[in-house]
Amino acid sequence: MEYLNYINGEWVKSVSGETFESKNPANERVIGKFQKSNEEDVKVAINAAENAYENWSEMPAAKRGEILFRAADLLMKNKQKLGKLVATEMGKVLSESLGDVQEAIDVTYYMAAEGRRLFGHTTTSELRDKFCMTIRVPIGIVGCITPWNFPTAIPSWKIMPALICGNTIIFKPSSDTPLCAVEFVKILVKAGVPKGVLNLVTGPGGTVGKEIVKNKKIRGISFTGHRNTGKWILQNAGIKRIGLELGSKNGIIIMDDANLEIALDGVIWGAFGTTGQRCTAASRVIVHKKVKKKFENMLVNRVKKLKLGSGLNPGVDVGPLINKAALEKVTSYVEIGKREGAKLLIGGKPVKVKGKGYFFTPSIFTNCNIDMNICQDEIFGPVVAIIEAKNFDDAIKKINSVDYGLSSAIYTENIRYAFKAMKKIEAGLTYINSSTIGSEIHLPFGGVKQSGNAREGGIHGIDEFSEIKTIYFDYSGRLQKAQIDTS
Ligand code: NAD
Repeated sequence: MEYLNYINGEWVKSVSGETFESKNPANERVIGKFQKSNEEDVKVAINAAENAYENWSEMPAAKRGEILFRAADLLMKNKQKLGKLVATEMGKVLSESLGDVQEAIDVTYYMAAEGRRLFGHTTTSELRDKFCMTIRVPIGIVGCITPWNFPTAIPSWKIMPALICGNTIIFKPSSDTPLCAVEFVKILVKAGVPKGVLNLVTGPGGTVGKEIVKNKKIRGISFTGHRNTGKWILQNAGIKRIGLELGSKNGIIIMDDANLEIALDGVIWGAFGTTGQRCTAASRVIVHKKVKKKFENMLVNRVKKLKLGSGLNPGVDVGPLINKAALEKVTSYVEIGKREGAKLLIGGKPVKVKGKGYFFTPSIFTNCNIDMNICQDEIFGPVVAIIEAKNFDDAIKKINSVDYGLSSAIYTENIRYAFKAMKKIEAGLTYINSSTIGSEIHLPFGGVKQSGNAREGGIHGIDEFSEIKTIYFDYSGRLQKAQIDTS
């Protein structure tokens, strides 16, 4: 079946008439054909977003919120269907796929209610008979560019706050999960988002994405994806609001006093959940030398029991990688790890399930040195590097010895280590006695260093999609001068 772009309230073909395919990564079957749009389609969408802007931005935010409440109800009603679609198109196991949709539901209710808040603040003036406050105004037309690994949740983190703040939107989803995007937009249309307010343009990053980034009429970009794409956006967008949520190389520290059973659950979940394809995935385990051998044995024994297969099948723990290129990348990193002298304890092979799919066996390297490429680069697959730490300070030094800083975790029963780690680890998120993954939507989410510059979630999502405007209201009836020395 062929799916269309959604521009100016209508489902339309791309200007070129060209299409591309999306495939189920578990069995390589084609799911549908989608519009291979180009710069011209983006320009048409921008025109629609420009025309819709005045009416939408002037609509009382609480009324926009009513539309979002309806969207949240519809997402809830369609949760099973959308969850199955995520499992089919993106590949993760059904419980995680339903979690992806639940996150979108939670964000949508949260942002709908924000329509009755959107707080600014008031403060005192240094002069008499003068009132000072801040208000929130929309940014304008914003571009939301998203990856494939959370095909419902990540668009909702961007689109819901953008809508409630009164922006109009050009949405470009990943070409690996366009059907999830089409179904998501259909829900918002059904909920009553007016024509031109939300425009879906599918197609390559090099044409559609590039035009969104470069076009001067777009005032803000919210991007989630690879660090190199983020860098390119920063260098090419010109002066715009730019929010970047990028990759990482997240670590878990396991101290010698840790409860190893709980740590084991955390490593398995953080490293192999979503087949290691989360920006917050745990790809480095920094373990105290006293418990390293024991923990390695526990880990290998557990990994042996993990079952690979289609995310739709009950009992499956690890789904496929997203596509052939991802499979090749992960395979090549295992070869790099071996060449660098790391010891492969288990896994390391691409495999087929029922003769198909982009599966890779969950893999553990040990005796890793922090400078190795497998300890520095985001592999984005089920590959973990174990690094030995001499003591707490050594563990902190090693967890921080990467360019990235999105998520992190420490397992310890020692309260002093826990509190020190909260401050010393260079990351946007630190979990104590819990894995690196599993954010809650009302708390800020985002990284430091090369993991990005944005904070999504909760009130921070509102900050990303609104301008803070300062108002000085002078009711003295004369000219009063602030910041003038009259002493
Ligand atoms: P990607 O950067 O390849 O693609 C992301 C999106 O950007 C896609 O829609 C793509 O088409 C588009 N794009 C590509 N080139 C572009 C260009 N020149 N201009 C504009 N848009 C362009 O990333 P991906 O492979 O889809 O996603 C995986 C990456 O995303 C990983 O690095 C992962 O860590 C990261 N990620 C980060 C977060 C976070 O919140 N920090 C969350 C999920 C994923």
